[in-house]
Amino acid sequence: MFVGHLAAGLGAKKLAPEMPLWAGIGAAFGMDLIWPVFLLAGLEVVHVAPGATAFTPLDFVSYPWTHSLLFVVVWSLVVVLVAHRIFKSGWIAVLLGALVLSHWVLDAITHRPDLPLWPGGPVVGLGLWYSIPGTLILEGSLLLAGIWLYTSVTRATSKEGVWSLVTLLVLTTVIWVSKPWVPPAQSAATVAWSSLALWGLLPWARWIERGRVLQQPTAEDWWSERL
Ligand SMILES: [Zn+2]
Repeated sequence: MFVGHLAAGLGAKKLAPEMPLWAGIGAAFGMDLIWPVFLLAGLEVVHVAPGATAFTPLDFVSYPWTHSLLFVVVWSLVVVLVAHRIFKSGWIAVLLGALVLSHWVLDAITHRPDLPLWPGGPVVGLGLWYSIPGTLILEGSLLLAGIWLYTSVTRATSKEGVWSLVTLLVLTTVIWVSKPWVPPAQSAATVAWSSLALWGLLPWARWIERGRVLQQPTAEDWWSERL
């Protein structure tokens, strides 16, 4: 899944408006952020196999450390602990941990059965990627819901706050929709290096929130206006 993870990060803002968008998006994409690092380290393997599914030409040969359910649970717990130290909020920490778990659930809907329950264990995957219309409809609906939730709790205070969000949504949607039609990557190394570009979502999310504020004043705002 691709824009579905973005949708989860955007939509989570409704549950914890104080949670920075970069953290929500980072947690929702989490496993795909560290995946290229594991690929480049030779610990996980992907093959370019045109026709693997209708939507993506990738054969996820082995990715136990980033995409087995067991390790996603472990990463999720690590995120809860680290996020609690950073944000000093149990709720935000738990929500970010849940977003890490959401990655595996959403991937399990789209991937063909290649997601292991634990390293070397049975693999699962509902295979939505075998259907291009199915992928576009389900993931597209998730993205629309995420945008709606995010814009219902934040509003732009400058043009920058509008355009930073619009350009991110257009760019990710174009990359996602064109996936079945662009020629597949030349090699697994190209896949790994280009996947590192996902890290760019984090500074982009910070840029978006520089130009936006929460719709409802928070408790902190209430006090700062009065003291
Ligand atoms: Zn993934």
